[in-house]
Amino acid sequence: MNTHTFSPVSLTVAKFGGTSVADYAAMDRCADIILADPSVRVVVVSASSGVTNLLVALSAGVAENDKRLALLGQIAAIQYQILDALGRPAEVAATLDQLLTEMDKHSASLAHLPGEPARVDALLALGEQCSSLLFAELLRQRGEPARARDVREVMRTDSHHGRATPQLQELAQLAQGRWAVGLNAERIVTQGFIGADADGNTTTLGRGGSDFSAALLAEALGADNLAIWTDVDGIYSCDPRLVSGARPIPELSFDEAAEMATFGAKVLHPATILPAVRSGCAVFVGCSRSPELGGTWIRNQTELNPVYRAVSLRRNQTLLTVHSLNMLHAQGFLAELFAILARHRISVDLITTSEVSVALTLDSTGSDSGGRELLTPALLEELGQMCRVEVETGLALVAVIGNRIATTAGVGKRVFEVLENHNVRMICQGASAHNLCFLVDGSEVDPVVQELHGRLLEQV
Ligand code: ASP
Ligand code: MG
Repeated sequence: MNTHTFSPVSLTVAKFGGTSVADYAAMDRCADIILADPSVRVVVVSASSGVTNLLVALSAGVAENDKRLALLGQIAAIQYQILDALGRPAEVAATLDQLLTEMDKHSASLAHLPGEPARVDALLALGEQCSSLLFAELLRQRGEPARARDVREVMRTDSHHGRATPQLQELAQLAQGRWAVGLNAERIVTQGFIGADADGNTTTLGRGGSDFSAALLAEALGADNLAIWTDVDGIYSCDPRLVSGARPIPELSFDEAAEMATFGAKVLHPATILPAVRSGCAVFVGCSRSPELGGTWIRNQTELNPVYRAVSLRRNQTLLTVHSLNMLHAQGFLAELFAILARHRISVDLITTSEVSVALTLDSTGSDSGGRELLTPALLEELGQMCRVEVETGLALVAVIGNRIATTAGVGKRVFEVLENHNVRMICQGASAHNLCFLVDGSEVDPVVQELHGRLLEQV
């Protein structure tokens, strides 16, 4: 039987980030957006703004009981504000109280045994459980059939707590079998960020993982569109807080968006694009506070493909340089190096090599839900056994993003003119038609980005 049958003409999965569900008024604006679009059948929410940070603080183990209760009190205040505005419906109030009791229980246990990964995930997952419960009730009060459903029914992951990997086949089967059929009757409100392994243990996908969750659900359900509603009206040509001339980009290709999500401002979680590319689902990014401003559409094909689309910046980059004479005329050194990094679940952004050394950049978004650094002493020691390792921190990665970058004459000259008075620590170009990247010291990067954006994207 083919369960993948919807009668609505198209299916949209819509994700609302933490600021979009921060309080009752914000949630109410999201409800307007949903009610205006009958194709939105699955709604994915983040925890209300601030809640995950508070839970992360608790997960580190707050031994002082007064302090722990104060943090729990802050979370409860955020959730009760919404519950009160909803008129404290008894059933929802009871479920919310259960969730808050669980927070208390897990945080008390972590106070004595900090960092226990399975329990940290169980604690962090409660933020999204609260927001989805409340948001589903709000939709019902607006007269819309809607139900909060536990994403752990379908979001199957491995058991790597803090940064679990989704199991795509199981996810697709579960989503098709359990969720696809009832979508016409009522909208599903569910949690981003969290999942469950095959034994039913709660896992998380890493900080900011709700976008990724929504993209995975869109793929699993064969959705036509994925809408990411956040606090900015689309993806900009640069961070507007840094560059006053930055403009929203109406349309981006998947390739450009993937580069931007990896190297750029944190509008989208870097993993979000991949499920969309695989399933051909178009992605929209817009602002839930002012949907009338429009936003950015990310698609396979775009109408315009300019050479320069955006200048992205990522701070807090770590440069890892490894040197080994064993590399000289040898085979397998890089394979071994990357095998070690893979075992430690390190994702590498940029890489350059010479005959006897390799330089790679790492980003702090490589860290897990609890915010622990991945460049652990254990990893450094393992690497130290095969090569000499140097670690430099405080660098910034600048990426020029666009089309035909590797094949257009004059790009290098225009970019490097701006860098005349700066030390460029590393340059990466050629692998992708869509970017040129370099590293400079974090203290010098602001004027570099401002000038670069001005020259490439503001002068016509
Ligand atoms: N609530 C989680 C976080 O703050 C996931 C998300 O918002 O995407 O990291
Ligand atoms: Mg978020």
